[in-house]
Amino acid sequence: MQIKELVIISGKGGTGKTSIAASFAALARNKVTVDCDVDAANMHIVMNHDIQRKKGFKGGKEAYVDPDLCTGCGTCFDHCRYNAVKMIDKLGKDKAFIEDISCEGCGVCVEFCPEGAVTLIQQTSGEWYISNSSFGPFIHARLGIAQENSGKLVTLLRLNSRILAKENDCELIIIDGSPGIGCPVIASITASSMVLAVTEPTLSGIHDLERIVELVKGFKTIPLTVCINKYDINIEITKEIEKYCAANKLCIVGSLPYDYLVTKAQIAGVSVVEYTGARIALSIKKMWRKIYYSLIQ
Ligand code: SF4
Ligand code: SF4
Repeated sequence: MQIKELVIISGKGGTGKTSIAASFAALARNKVTVDCDVDAANMHIVMNHDIQRKKGFKGGKEAYVDPDLCTGCGTCFDHCRYNAVKMIDKLGKDKAFIEDISCEGCGVCVEFCPEGAVTLIQQTSGEWYISNSSFGPFIHARLGIAQENSGKLVTLLRLNSRILAKENDCELIIIDGSPGIGCPVIASITASSMVLAVTEPTLSGIHDLERIVELVKGFKTIPLTVCINKYDINIEITKEIEKYCAANKLCIVGSLPYDYLVTKAQIAGVSVVEYTGARIALSIKKMWRKIYYSLIQ
C-alpha cells in the first residue's frame, strides 16, 4: 500500500491552517498526524494526546571557549562576522566569551584561534515526541527559542511519520506544514502527495498565495489545491482569488465561512468538527471528502 502524504500550508501563520489540519485528522481514518510547524507548534493543543516517546533534537553547533587556554588575544573577536564574541575581563585579564544566541556555528573562530582554545559543540535545540492521540499516532516537536535548523527537524519528523505509518498500516499522513516559503516549508512539502494551500481574502493573502504557487510549481509533480478560509469577510478579494486560481488552473477545494466557533473550538482544545455540527464543520467535511477521494484515486 502506497502511503499518501497531504500537507496543509499557508503563506503566514493565523490563516486557519492548523484548525483545518486538526479537523482532517479527526475525520480521516487510518492515518498518522504530524505537526511540522515546528517554529510555532500548536496542533498538540487541539489533539488530545499522550506522549509515548520523547527525544532530543540536535540542530546546529555553537562555539565554546576554554578559558584556561584563551590568552585574550582577540583574534576570534576580530574575525567573527556575527558579533558573537565578547571580550570579558576575568580577574584582570580579557578572555573571549561566546554569546550563544548570536553564534551561527560557522567555525571561523576555531580556525583562527592560535591557542586551539575554541571548539564547536553540538547543541540540543529542541525535543520531538511520538504520542498516542484520540485520532491515532501523532508526531510533534518543540524547538528552543531562536534555534535554527527547523528544516532539519521537519525532515526528521516526516521520516519518522513514514516509519510510524508503515508500522501501523496507515494509508495516509496528514501534515500541518510550516507557514511561509522558507526552508521548513520546503522540507514539509518535499516528496508529498498533495499540498493544500490555505489562504484568506486579504491583500496579503493573495500575495502569499502567489508565493506559495511559485514555490510548489518548482516541485512539478505535486498537485496544489486551494482553500479560501473566511471567504465571506471580503467577497471582492475572494473573487480575485478565484480568478487567480482559474487563470493558474488551481482547484479550489473549499471555501469556508468565517465562524467564531473556530476560536471556541481552539479554546476548548478540540478540532472544529468535534466541537460543532454547524455550517463551518459541514464545509470542512465537504472539503475533506473531495481531498480524500482525489488522494486515493
Ligand atoms: S582567538 Fe583564541 S586565544 Fe584569542 S581571544 Fe579568541 S579564544 Fe582566546
Ligand atoms: S562559530 Fe562563527 S559565529 Fe560562532 S563565535 Fe565563532 S566565528 Fe562567531
